[in-house]
Amino acid sequence: MRRLTLLTNPDKCNLRCPLCFLNQRGRPFGMGEMPIEVAKAAIEKNAGSGLREVIPSTMGEPLLYSKFAELLEYCSAKKIPLNLTTNGTFPGIWGTAAGMERLLLACSDIKVSCMGFEDPAFDEMMPGISFEPWRRNVERLLGVARSLCAGSATGRNVASVSLQVTLHRKLLSFAPEILHWADSVGIVRIKWNLPVFISAGERLRNEYGISGLAAREIRRELEALQAQFPRVRCEGSLFFDVHLGGGPCDLFKDEIWILPDGSEEHCPNPERRFGDSASAGATCEKCMLFNHDL
Ligand code: SF4
Repeated sequence: MRRLTLLTNPDKCNLRCPLCFLNQRGRPFGMGEMPIEVAKAAIEKNAGSGLREVIPSTMGEPLLYSKFAELLEYCSAKKIPLNLTTNGTFPGIWGTAAGMERLLLACSDIKVSCMGFEDPAFDEMMPGISFEPWRRNVERLLGVARSLCAGSATGRNVASVSLQVTLHRKLLSFAPEILHWADSVGIVRIKWNLPVFISAGERLRNEYGISGLAAREIRRELEALQAQFPRVRCEGSLFFDVHLGGGPCDLFKDEIWILPDGSEEHCPNPERRFGDSASAGATCEKCMLFNHDL
């Protein structure tokens, strides 16, 4: 069963997050938007091999893809759910109750990125939206999801709502509070991801990086807290236990990434895609997805 990630609009975003790989490298991806024909052709090509989900751009805000509504309708017609990761701004029609309803019925999961948990740190990490509007948006989405589950749409699939938290240095101390809030509002899963710095973003490591020791401590703390909040599944790169044998990992063997020009990639290492493909971090031996020690 495959997952297909379409880099629909890597350069189109309404926030300017410092840890975004495009900010780290200091220049746009440069391929423009994916033509909808390219998206449809990639889906068509993989539909026969058990395509399980389509993931619209995880770089850039997917809800700003000019063909997002068309992509959503196309996938719905083929009964292939979208797996959406959004920055939580819900621009345009997607911020209305009707828009959220449409998203919830077309997606298997909606993951909202979280890089701060109170202002002014939130503003610093996700400049372009403040904490309260972000939180209200997440809670409104959950409210619409509850209504769909309880109301006339019973029997239809309603997306789960998750958080994708980047555990950078300034957010670490908020992790228990985030877990507590997630449980109280009905978030079912948190992906706790460690911050990743491509070689061009090394300058950010001192300010936002965490040590291997800090990562192990927060992992232990969250594992201990899980007993109190069993309804929230904790996942993400914080929990990766991979010791590389030198060759490619098999974590992503069922995943394909499609660039805006239609070319395929089979590995998500951001140093390869956004940084310097000749640097050590782009190799499997030093893959930055598994090497977090300072
Ligand atoms: S570079 Fe990293 S993610 Fe890519 S195949 Fe190698 S180990 Fe896996």
